[in-house]
Amino acid sequence: MSIAQNIEHITAQLPEGVKLVAVSKFHPVEKIMEAYDAGQRIFGENRAQEMAAKAPQLPSDIEWHFIGHLQKNKVRMIIPWASTIQSIDSIELLQLVNKEAARINRNVNVLLQLHVAKEQTKSGFTVDELLKVAAEGAFTNLSNVTIAGLMAMATFTDDMKQVTSEFELVHNTFTTLRDKYFAGDTAFKEISMGMSDDWHIAVQHGATYVRIGTNIFGAREY
Ligand SMILES: *Cc1c(COP(=O)(O)O)cnc(C)c1O
Repeated sequence: MSIAQNIEHITAQLPEGVKLVAVSKFHPVEKIMEAYDAGQRIFGENRAQEMAAKAPQLPSDIEWHFIGHLQKNKVRMIIPWASTIQSIDSIELLQLVNKEAARINRNVNVLLQLHVAKEQTKSGFTVDELLKVAAEGAFTNLSNVTIAGLMAMATFTDDMKQVTSEFELVHNTFTTLRDKYFAGDTAFKEISMGMSDDWHIAVQHGATYVRIGTNIFGAREY
């Protein structure tokens, strides 16, 4: 199937309110334009140089989401382009994003990345860390970022019970944080979880963004 057909096939299955992030990492701008022409507007990239190189070549109504581990020395490179940084995995990074966004008078949406997977290589706050920093007030007084919710990746496994329990943990943590630290803050509403192999499960457990690459663009050539 074509990129346009893949997008249509996926979006037709997404419940109301669930948004598709087309993960275009490693794919050229021509492929992104194919998706754009099919109506797709939200794209995800996981490397700073790649986002900063592609974004200026593409239509300005694209909403770029940064979804990879973000090194501090790369923040400045993506702040002009990213509408959302989904992968905030430390308070230092959050504060730096706020500072760099303020420097160019921009507001950036961010998601806090939660580490729920078994792999230690994946980044993010543990549930305990996130609740601790929230209690310490880390999410208040940020002038140029809007904390819009949580992002997570499940363990890379065929064990769908494991994946399901991780998505449930993300959803529960989201609810706890929202009720305790974001009460009345209507911006805190997003849960980004689910990729090509597990997005159906993620949607059943409250995902509002699914991040899909392979099922749209085919396999990546690294
Ligand atoms: C690459 C990537 C995806 C998309 O993965 P697919 O399996 O190709 O759909 C989603 N989320 C993150 C954080 C990624 O790095």
